[in-house]
Amino acid sequence: MSKKLLLKNAHIEGIRYFETYRKHGGYEAAEKALKMTTDEVLEEVKVSGLRGRGGAGFPTGMKWSFLAKPEGVPRHLVVNADESEPGTFKDRYLMEFLPHLLIEGMLISSYCLGSNTSYIYIRGEYSWIPDILEEAIEEAKAAGFLGKNILGTGYDLEIYVQRGAGAYICGEETALLESLEGRRGNPRLKPPFPAVKGLWERPTVVNNVESIAAVVPIIEIGGAEYAKIGIGRSTGTKLISACGNINKPGVYEIDMTITVEEFIYSDEYCGGIPNGKKLKACIPGGSSVPIVPANLLLKTINGEPRYMNYESLADGGFATGTMMGSGGFIVLDEDQCVVNHTMTLARFYNHESCGQCTPCREGTGWMYKILKKIEKGEGKMEDIDLLWDIQRKIEGNTICPLGDAAAWPVAAAIRHFRDEFEWHVNNPELCQTQNYGIANY
Ligand code: NAD
Ligand code: SF4
Repeated sequence: MSKKLLLKNAHIEGIRYFETYRKHGGYEAAEKALKMTTDEVLEEVKVSGLRGRGGAGFPTGMKWSFLAKPEGVPRHLVVNADESEPGTFKDRYLMEFLPHLLIEGMLISSYCLGSNTSYIYIRGEYSWIPDILEEAIEEAKAAGFLGKNILGTGYDLEIYVQRGAGAYICGEETALLESLEGRRGNPRLKPPFPAVKGLWERPTVVNNVESIAAVVPIIEIGGAEYAKIGIGRSTGTKLISACGNINKPGVYEIDMTITVEEFIYSDEYCGGIPNGKKLKACIPGGSSVPIVPANLLLKTINGEPRYMNYESLADGGFATGTMMGSGGFIVLDEDQCVVNHTMTLARFYNHESCGQCTPCREGTGWMYKILKKIEKGEGKMEDIDLLWDIQRKIEGNTICPLGDAAAWPVAAAIRHFRDEFEWHVNNPELCQTQNYGIANY
């Protein structure tokens, strides 16, 4: 049984409200943190080994220590709640059921970073959640945990919730900042990183919802204790949103020592694949990370079990491994068609490209067109090579990671499932009535 840190109280009725949250130990970590110096709080976060839970896995303590502190310039914390990665819905769960965990995490983090005005930028499609967050903010304020002179410490903090307008690209941190400033969400060139020049050109830390919520248990139990949970550089717990062909889709908290096999088949988590079907492949970290076939998903190239953590999932690099990413775990059974699946993703990235850079703007469109052709049984063998060539020209040649995110799924699909692409070319008449999965397993 995995240790629960974030979701340990999620089952309690009314935990969404201040009174119940407080009754179960809520805001005790914030009280503790406000008695510590900001350097002591930072040290706990560093020692914890917490890595960014939005997808990149960048060490949170290191990011915080990069925050520039020029004299007289305000600093900000911005929580990235623009969770839009297909297959990823863990932050929605946290905000909907445990809004005070996020507010408490923001209080501790803002105090540590010296932010007096912090923001939550939330995905527009999560239309009902801003009301929940704003109610929680009001409750925290009424109880003296937000506003002026919090708990008599002299520290002031206001938190504002800003709704996005439905663009995936606004989850990219610099596009998010542009949007928050009231402009079109076009990503900026990095460096400078937001830690130096962020919101209104002020030093800004942008962190994912889950990363900020995790600061609460880190302060509660201490960074060193937190670091003992998990394995290697995959410390603490991680939320995984599981979906696709599994018996129990949902949000699970894991401690990153369990194997992928256990996660898929154990009743504690996904509960196996419906109707006794075989596992074909999985995308373990949200749609941007490479798809992995079942044989490489359950074992690494060295024959070791693959674990649900940053290192093990990436074992073998992009050729054979994948990434932990945002923890959006998508399972495909034997009946699913990888070509159809890849085409759906290509359409998504093409639609969401902001259009600033040519390889992404044009390349995503061409990848979608070619995939559509192949999927319909109208492709030629050379189209597969053309597709490979286009994704190679996008990767690493764009302003923001959306270009890479569009290229990787196509590269991994061709690398691992080229036979399916060839089947579509060789069986044009069957493509009209059935897909590769149903025809071949
Ligand atoms: P990144 O690796 O460029 O940066 C990670 C973080 O570290 C950023 O906040 C960046 O500012 C900071 N950073 C890195 N180097 C720094 C330095 N030298 N100084 C100061 N700060 C530094 O990755 P990213 O663009 O933030 O994120 C990409 C990831 O986002 C992908 O892995 C993808 O899986 C994920 N993603 C998630 C969602 C979602 O819905 N959760 C949506 C889209 C993409
Ligand atoms: Fe825009 Fe795509 Fe370039 Fe990112 S990679 S800046 S989404 S065009």
